[in-house]
Amino acid sequence: MKIAVKANVALAPLTTFEIGGAARHFCAITEEGQIPPALEFAERQQLPVFVLGGGSNVLVSDAGFPGLVLAIRIVGRQRSGSEVEVGAGENWDGFVAWCVQQDLAGLECLSGIPGSTGGTPIQNVGAYGQEVAETITAVRAWDRQAREFVELGRGDCRFAYRFSRFNGSDGGRYVVSSVRFALRPGGAPAVRYPDLQKRLGAAQPSLAQVRDTVLAVRRGKGMVIEAGGAPWGSAGSYFKNPVLTAEQYEALAHVADLPRGGHLPLFAGPDGQTKTSAAWLIEKAGFAKGFRPLVNGQPGPAGLSPQHTLALVNYGGARAADVFALQEEIQAAVEAKFGIRLQPEPIFVGPPPCG
Ligand SMILES: Cc1cc2nc3c(=O)[nH]c(=O)nc-3n(C[C@H](O)[C@H](O)[C@H](O)COP(=O)(O)OP(=O)(O)OC[C@H]3O[C@@H](n4cnc5c(N)ncnc54)[C@H](O)[C@@H]3O)c2cc1C
Repeated sequence: MKIAVKANVALAPLTTFEIGGAARHFCAITEEGQIPPALEFAERQQLPVFVLGGGSNVLVSDAGFPGLVLAIRIVGRQRSGSEVEVGAGENWDGFVAWCVQQDLAGLECLSGIPGSTGGTPIQNVGAYGQEVAETITAVRAWDRQAREFVELGRGDCRFAYRFSRFNGSDGGRYVVSSVRFALRPGGAPAVRYPDLQKRLGAAQPSLAQVRDTVLAVRRGKGMVIEAGGAPWGSAGSYFKNPVLTAEQYEALAHVADLPRGGHLPLFAGPDGQTKTSAAWLIEKAGFAKGFRPLVNGQPGPAGLSPQHTLALVNYGGARAADVFALQEEIQAAVEAKFGIRLQPEPIFVGPPPCG
């Protein structure tokens, strides 16, 4: 099958952070049959490979990527009863909007998340009490190890909070070409998140009302990417909410200015674990919304979003090194105060300081 490989393609405009250098080689994949020959091209030249979806969860190195970037642009969706198979390159939010229109329940709380459908199983995308692990029944992918297309069932994906085999031990092994979801035709929406429950009231809302409410809440936090929207780039939440062991919870509850119990924000994930809020830890460690380290006495190009402590943003002209320095400053302060090392959510692409 024919492939077109381009040289020196700028990656920054293909990411929501709008940061980073160029890909040495770049190949857009519009049909799954193009995946094996593109990988053979990289193998012949002994090039590293990076698979890019919508670029909404990556931080690309200022030096770019010294190998082949495969940009997954496979589109299309096929419905068969309650199941829908979706091309990995389909825009995620477009698919969620379509499901809501078709009265298919199961993804409504995941409205407004940027990126591709093929990107969603990688970190088990989740928001407002819902995760894709609940509805994904199979992931079709090229297995770079076995050199064949495989279909991985939900159990094979090893989903957990912001985790799957695709970003765990098997990171980089699979190139996802399509994802199958089992949805609930005419089903009730999931309204599990307190903020949503408060806004929607007691009556049973429609899927469309839940989608609109999620979008409104997200807009308030600067977490929706819209034309003419926020004048900064980001990868959404930069740090994962830490999952606490019983010992960490005890230690945290004893921190000097923290009243025991009550005030510590704890919430249970669908995987039965206890998490606390990374945004809360960051604020208590001394970083307010809009925090922007000075560079030569002027506000620098990287900082915290004025709308959400958890989003590190590019105010214009930031380099990966600026974001990385801010990440390390925050990690060190939170660790010094609470003994918890925050883990970044975006994937680092290319040589250090990203990679
Ligand atoms: C404003 C904003 C809000 C966000 N809100 C949320 C949120 O509420 N919840 C949440 O979970 N995330 C959120 N995110 C993060 C991000 O949108 C999701 O993680 C998204 O699913 C990433 O998909 P992508 O296609 O953009 O992946 P990319 O950023 O392109 O890639 C991310 C990772 O997935 C891999 N990957 C992508 N596509 C494929 C494929 N086809 N095959 C194999 N590997 C692939 C890449 O190699 C990389 O490792 C947000 C981001 C932004 C910018």
